[in-house]
Amino acid sequence: MNKFDQKLNNMGHYPLKAADVSTLQVNMGYKCNLRCTHCHVDASPGRTEEMSSETVDRLIEILRDNDEITTVDITGGSPELNPNYIRFVKSAVNLGKKVMVRSNLAILTEPGMQDIPDFLAKNSVKIIGSLPCYTAEGVDGQRGKGTYEKAVSALKRLNELGYAQEGTGLEIDIMFNPAKEGIAPDQKMLENAYRGKLKEMHGITFNHLIALSNMPIGRLGKSMSTIEKEVYIKQLEEKFNPVTVTNVMCRHLISVAPDGTLFDCDFWQVLKLPVKTRNSNDVKSFDYASLSNREIITAPLCFMCTAGTGASCGGALV
Ligand code: SF4
Ligand code: SF4
Repeated sequence: MNKFDQKLNNMGHYPLKAADVSTLQVNMGYKCNLRCTHCHVDASPGRTEEMSSETVDRLIEILRDNDEITTVDITGGSPELNPNYIRFVKSAVNLGKKVMVRSNLAILTEPGMQDIPDFLAKNSVKIIGSLPCYTAEGVDGQRGKGTYEKAVSALKRLNELGYAQEGTGLEIDIMFNPAKEGIAPDQKMLENAYRGKLKEMHGITFNHLIALSNMPIGRLGKSMSTIEKEVYIKQLEEKFNPVTVTNVMCRHLISVAPDGTLFDCDFWQVLKLPVKTRNSNDVKSFDYASLSNREIITAPLCFMCTAGTGASCGGALV
C-alpha cells in the first residue's frame, strides 16, 4: 500500500470512492498556442491530439441522457483551437448545463478567435482564465514573450462585455499557479494582491482567484530529477490535511481525454491511467451508475490535492 493509501486506510476511506459524477471535464485537445514551462499536460503548438466530431456528438448525448451531470468544464491545451468548440459549448448551454471554459486568455486575441469572448458572454459561459502572475515578467517568463500583454487585452475586452461586472451574472475567475514546483501561497491573500494590482495597473476586475500548486508531471515533471520530485511529494505529504479527502475533485467528476477515454482526473489522463471501471472506460461505453460508484485510483501524487487547504480545478477545498 502506498503512503497516500495508508493515510486513507487509517481514516477508513480506502479505497477512495466516487460520490457522484456532477461534472464532466472535457479535454478537447492537447494543442495550445503557448508552451508554458510548468504545463502538466505538456501542451504546445506542435501537439496534434484533438477531440473528433463523433466524440463531441457522443458527449452531447451523454449530457442529454444524464441529468445528474450538471456542470461541463472544458479544457485543453487551448480548447478554442478545436473546430467543434463553439458547437459543443452551445449544445451544453442549450441542455441547461452550467458551462465553464478554461482559457489562457492570450488565445482570445489571436486571428480567428476574436469573436469568442462575445459568444461566451452571450451564452453566459463562465470563464476560468489562467494568469500565473500579475506582472509581465512573471507571465512572459513562464508563457513566452508578449503573452501578458495579450492576456491583459483579453481581460479588458471581457470586462467590457460584462464579465465580473455587477448585475450581469457573467463570471470570470483567474487561475494562478507557481512558476515551478512548490505549494501555492494562500488563495485569499493572493486574490487580494491580484485584485489590487490588476485594478491599479489596468482597471481590470475579476470574480475569484483559484490558486493551484503544480503537479510534477508533464513538462514540469520532465524538467525535475527523481530526487526533486521525491522532495516535493514529501513536502506535500507533510502538509496532508485529512479534512480535504472527502472533497477531492475526482469524487465528483470524470475527465474525458481527446480520444474519448475516461479518467478519474486530468492528472491521471496525462499519466494514461484510465478509470478502473472496465465496463465503462470510454465515452462509447459511458455508464453513469458504474462511474458514480467507482473506486478511484490513488497514489502519492494525490498529496497535491490534499495538502494544506487542498487543491482542485475549482480552487482550495477547505
Ligand atoms: S499551461 Fe495551459 S496555456 Fe500553458 S501550454 Fe499548458 S495548456 Fe497551454
Ligand atoms: S490526483 Fe487528486 S484528483 Fe487525481 S485521483 Fe488523486 S486526489 Fe483525485
